[in-house]
Amino acid sequence: MNIIKNDLLREYKKYEKEYDDAIKQTMNSGWYILGNNLKSFENLYATYCGCKHCIGVASGLDALWIAMHMLGIGAGDEVIVQANAYIASVMGITINGALPVFVEPDEYYGIDASKIEEKISSKTKAILVVHLYGNPCNMDKVTEICKKHELYLVEDCAQSHGATYNGKMTGSFGDLGCFSFYPTKNLGAFGDGGCIVCDSDKLDDSIRIFRNYGSKEKNQNVVVGTNSRLDELQAALLKVKLNHLEEITNERIDIARKYNEGIRNSKIILPKERPGGKCVYHQYAIRTDEGKTRDSLVEYLKENGIHTMIHYPIPPHLSDAYDYLGYKKGSFPIAETYADTVLSIPIFNGFTDEEQKVVIDVINNF
Ligand SMILES: *Cc1c(COP(=O)(O)O)cnc(C)c1O
Repeated sequence: MNIIKNDLLREYKKYEKEYDDAIKQTMNSGWYILGNNLKSFENLYATYCGCKHCIGVASGLDALWIAMHMLGIGAGDEVIVQANAYIASVMGITINGALPVFVEPDEYYGIDASKIEEKISSKTKAILVVHLYGNPCNMDKVTEICKKHELYLVEDCAQSHGATYNGKMTGSFGDLGCFSFYPTKNLGAFGDGGCIVCDSDKLDDSIRIFRNYGSKEKNQNVVVGTNSRLDELQAALLKVKLNHLEEITNERIDIARKYNEGIRNSKIILPKERPGGKCVYHQYAIRTDEGKTRDSLVEYLKENGIHTMIHYPIPPHLSDAYDYLGYKKGSFPIAETYADTVLSIPIFNGFTDEEQKVVIDVINNF
């Protein structure tokens, strides 16, 4: 049996008719950018997130850098972010000319809230939390720190659509919540897309203007903006998927539960859910005791036809792109250990019981 890491076709096939109808409807509307599909998707998704506003943009990275730009974050400012973030989270900071200040992750792969305060300086403007793998960060602690030190809170929810902490949606804690609709995400489009959610009327207005060349009325450009818009086709397709998101999420949670119950191997560390958190399992990331074990597990799984991925093998502070920050191996030992030992095993919508049984058996035989 050949088991791939993720098969997006299955999820398309499941709701094929609805997607195809949405495409036809959009094509026949004769209107392809900033139209009614986007408007209604934005309203539906804001409601879903428990936020007042949702503004569609062109990608998750755009959501991040635009969010921080809108908060006035730029050169000379510092933003605190966990050291095991995806590189795009960090780029959202540095595109604005600001400096990322890394904090080690905790055992749930979120920012270790107990290590944030020692990193706050007079230049700190915001904390960017990343709800990695769909596991929410410790939002009680983080929001408390933000209040105490008067810092902005931005959430990278690219992997956490529908995840909650103490019953509250990720994305609704921060000043701004940033989502990606990249096809592999839990709420994935069929191309690039993203959005920003917020409660502030002022931020909503300024983001809407900024994403469209700084213009609210045609030819009236009030700020130097950008072109970052979620197109009508993607919005129409996302509306279809949003309707099924609960079902899509529950399927992932169910697969995770079967892994939790089925994997029995002393060499494997299973992911843990944060108390009070609802994890939506964008990834099911297991870990081994050391890097050598992880690498031989990858090989063993491959020999048995099972494909895996690593999220992420190189932490941002060790990537060539951030060489200029001057970090070296050993700067963030916990994040580096995670990079060496984590492994994402197959979890996706349409993943069958038979396939999962094979994966579990092979892992248990390792
Ligand atoms: C996917 C992802 C992004 C970037 O989203 P794009 O839509 O690919 O730009 C940012 N942060 C995290 C945590 C992600 O997983």
